[in-house]
Amino acid sequence: LRGLGRGLGVHRAALFGVLRDAVVAAGIPVRTGKAVTGFEAGRLLLGARREGPFDLVVDALGAASPLRVNLPGARPPRTLPFGAVWGTVPWIDAGFDGAALMQRYEQASVMIGVMPIGRQVVGGVALAAFFWSLKWEDHEALVAKGYEAWRDRVASLWPDTAPHLRALGGFESLTLARYQHQTARLPVGERLAAIGDAAHSTSPQLGQGANMALLDAWALTVALRRNADVTTGLADYAAFRRWHVRLYQAMSFSLTPFYQSDSRWLPVLRDVLVPIATTVPPLPQMLAALVAGRLLDPLPALGLKGVELQAGVQTRASSRHI
Ligand SMILES: Cc1cc2nc3c(=O)[nH]c(=O)nc-3n(C[C@H](O)[C@H](O)[C@H](O)COP(=O)(O)OP(=O)(O)OC[C@H]3O[C@@H](n4cnc5c(N)ncnc54)[C@H](O)[C@@H]3O)c2cc1C
Repeated sequence: LRGLGRGLGVHRAALFGVLRDAVVAAGIPVRTGKAVTGFEAGRLLLGARREGPFDLVVDALGAASPLRVNLPGARPPRTLPFGAVWGTVPWIDAGFDGAALMQRYEQASVMIGVMPIGRQVVGGVALAAFFWSLKWEDHEALVAKGYEAWRDRVASLWPDTAPHLRALGGFESLTLARYQHQTARLPVGERLAAIGDAAHSTSPQLGQGANMALLDAWALTVALRRNADVTTGLADYAAFRRWHVRLYQAMSFSLTPFYQSDSRWLPVLRDVLVPIATTVPPLPQMLAALVAGRLLDPLPALGLKGVELQAGVQTRASSRHI
């Protein structure tokens, strides 16, 4: 990424593995099989049980967090009309670029995507995420018409995906994702800090959800280290993340209809503007900064630097938008 160092794509399962290993190495006990149902004055509610009080509860329960109602001025999330079905398939070289997300569109109402997502474990099989954009309300009707009808339609729109469709084999390999858009006015409350999708969720068009969640976690760490008092630390955490999160939430909300909507004109504008944005300086660099999460660069204030790759890590310089 010109002027920004390297971009690094990480499979979410691999990221989860790294974080889990760090938790285990730090000796932090993990308890599974318990649903958090609420929060009350520093106490966690697990159904009929209460635990705590704790000095601080960090809410990382994602977009449907039941703890969000405890944030000041919390509003219910807005469910976006378009979502996607997506699945994971082995990577196929023929017709695809291992360093690029490739997509096919019909206006903004049809979108097929194939994204290289690396390997879940070192030495594992190279994988791709395959997705098909749809109105989540139409999902039932799509499934009712049968996998073969959908498979043939996708293959007619993008013949190179025939092996992916064979590998998927049926709708049971595809997960329906609904997207919700919400931004907490303040991601902190009394003894409570929300990070990641619990604090702000949106459609994944800009691919920033995991970056944002990691930045939140690091900002909270820095803020608590700098302040002996939890309340002041939480105020610092909110201040660290305020404008970066708001900018990206606003951009995601306004750009999503260019890629997922019934609009006739937004996709026309997109097809005119994207070739310009990817070729006319300084727009490519701004675009790179946008998709690297580096507009209003949050790294310096948090004492972070861009990714430096170790020798031997495979890189490709190109990226392509179709
Ligand atoms: C189809 C799709 C594609 C995406 N693509 C990208 C992408 O390319 N790049 C990117 O950066 N982001 C992407 N995102 C967004 C990204 O997945 C999220 O932003 C990210 O996972 C947020 O992390 P999180 O830890 O805040 O929440 P989550 O990953 O949602 O984790 C929340 C965890 O809390 C658990 N949990 C929830 N409720 C409870 C409860 N009541 N009690 C106990 N546990 C609970 C859940 O089981 C889960 O393990 C995508 C999202 C979707 C749906």
